[in-house]
Amino acid sequence: MILETFPVGPLACNCTILGDEQAGEAIVIDPGDEVGRIHRRLTELGLKLKQILVTHAHIDHVGGALRLKRLTGAPILLNENDLALLKMMYAQSAWLGIDPPETAPPDDNLAEGMIVGLDRYPAEVIHTPGHTQGSVCLHFAPLKLLIAGDTLFAGSIGRTDLPGGNPRQIIDSIHTRLLALPDETKVLPGHGPATTIGSERRSNPFLHMTV
Ligand SMILES: [Zn+2]
Repeated sequence: MILETFPVGPLACNCTILGDEQAGEAIVIDPGDEVGRIHRRLTELGLKLKQILVTHAHIDHVGGALRLKRLTGAPILLNENDLALLKMMYAQSAWLGIDPPETAPPDDNLAEGMIVGLDRYPAEVIHTPGHTQGSVCLHFAPLKLLIAGDTLFAGSIGRTDLPGGNPRQIIDSIHTRLLALPDETKVLPGHGPATTIGSERRSNPFLHMTV
């Protein structure tokens, strides 16, 4: 198995490549920027891209998805509840003072309960609204791994002050969906260092607040 996570773009979004060398296939999660680098790495590893999975439609996570699709032919999957945000790319780029990336509607809805990923490394989609309405986490149960997008961070949670954000909802999503996972589950957040469900359950101050 190949599992590589590296920050891309000015907001340092964690992009992840998960690959199966035997099958010669990979998925990429959150190609927010630096598409040339991501594509070069896939080529170096000799992996064919099967899916582009986007945890939510903020520019720093989705910004490179269409370019990567054009280079590889892989479909883009994004939860349908973030389509409104995807259409706001000009506004989102203005918040950051950067040029808006070209976007297109996703090829498929990254829907609650759907199984995505690779044959040997499947993931279940967990819809976790709150940071945005279409935010999802990807749970690779056999790998004891959660790709958390901007829902849960090491010692923090996603901001809820942008359009589509809802503080009560993100807390509810984390408590009912993410803290239901085993303590040993490794968490790769959308920004910053990795953590575990157990560590966040014990010490994340935002999970002990009432909103
Ligand atoms: Zn975000």
